Amino acid sequence: MVISDLPDNYYTGKRTFVRIDFNVPNIEVDPDPPRIRRAIPTIDYLTSRKAKVILASHLGRPDRRPDPKFSLKPLAVRLAEILRTNVRFVDDCIGDKVKEAIGSMGNGDVLLLENLRFHKGEEACDEKFSSELASLAEIYVNDAFGTSHRAHASTYGMARHFEYRLAGFLVRGELEHLARIREAPDRPFLVIVGGVKIKDKLSALKRLIDKADKVLVGGCVAYTFLVSKGLSVGDSLVEQESISWAAEVLSKHGNKIILPEDHIVSTNADDIKGIHLVSGGIPKFLKGFDIGRDTSKRYAKEIASGNRTILWNGPMGLFEKEQFSHGTVDVARSVALAYLRGCTTIIGGGDSIAALKMADVSEREVTHISTGGSASLEYIGGKELPGIEILTERSILEPAATEP
Ligand code: ADP
Ligand code: MG
Repeated sequence: MVISDLPDNYYTGKRTFVRIDFNVPNIEVDPDPPRIRRAIPTIDYLTSRKAKVILASHLGRPDRRPDPKFSLKPLAVRLAEILRTNVRFVDDCIGDKVKEAIGSMGNGDVLLLENLRFHKGEEACDEKFSSELASLAEIYVNDAFGTSHRAHASTYGMARHFEYRLAGFLVRGELEHLARIREAPDRPFLVIVGGVKIKDKLSALKRLIDKADKVLVGGCVAYTFLVSKGLSVGDSLVEQESISWAAEVLSKHGNKIILPEDHIVSTNADDIKGIHLVSGGIPKFLKGFDIGRDTSKRYAKEIASGNRTILWNGPMGLFEKEQFSHGTVDVARSVALAYLRGCTTIIGGGDSIAALKMADVSEREVTHISTGGSASLEYIGGKELPGIEILTERSILEPAATEP
């Protein structure tokens, strides 16, 4: 069910918990990212129907305890500017303070809770934490597509306590766009994968690899594959547990997977003087921070070679630093060009979206910008996402709402 499936008057005065994805790392640098903008229709819909809207999200990867670096407070300020209304913020997501704040909400008010990951129960999907979250509201809405591949307390555990678990408009929009590619992508279907969440990306690739005609690999994801081929990657980031799987995939699908042939390396990300280009393996004590020039050229050629669907998630390098941004910028521009020549392109992931901006690629040069990175890869690969599945599941732990 989607939020618009309940009668309008059902929402009046109802405490409505909306799991949004405000995992926006750089609100100061980019005050208007799609993840915030796309959450607005759901929030508007609920406030105009006089619900009491309780918003909750995670931000980054804090060490399961409060850390001002990962506070959602700046997002409350930005959201208030966008909504042009007051957005109250509480510096926790469960407990008496939160209950008091909710108790004093008027119909149509908006409240943003503090980072869910300040509690260890969130990622552990702890039952007690889940019930505490659930006790805050009468209706549950998931509009956090980018986190729906994880069975956390806010995306899964708490949802089980509600009779009405609804998809928001962002989630509905994502599913509509991605379902077509999940079912039958126009071929050739090219997947480009990079970034730093190696485990997530490799696990998604396990399914996607069968569907894709070709996969270009960059970012940290590439080093695990290179190690599995016996190449040296110096001190670059590698997912040890996945090396044998990577070797297996290469032996089975080797013709589909294209790996970097050269790299931009340095001793560390701040060692600007030490930056240089290496071909083949990466020598000892050095780390790869971007794909090299030949790899960039090769990837641009592959992207331009008549694909009909392209799915891209994960930057090719540490693009936040100009010195390591070239591979990512080249890929972004090549994918934009493919779109202008008629290819369906999906670009997903918080950082990949940020990279588009850096490459000066506009949203009009992409078929669909997905707010999900790994979630999109998993979904298109054919996996059922726990946060989406729970919306359709029948079993209810403790019904919290009455009949509409
Ligand atoms: P997305 O948010 O698009 O799903 P990820 O979160 O997986 O992507 O990864 C994005 C991050 O990966 C960026 O912050 C980028 O700097 C980092 N990254 C990519 N390649 C490298 C690399 N070779 N070394 C260090 N960081 C990298
Ligand atoms: Mg990211």
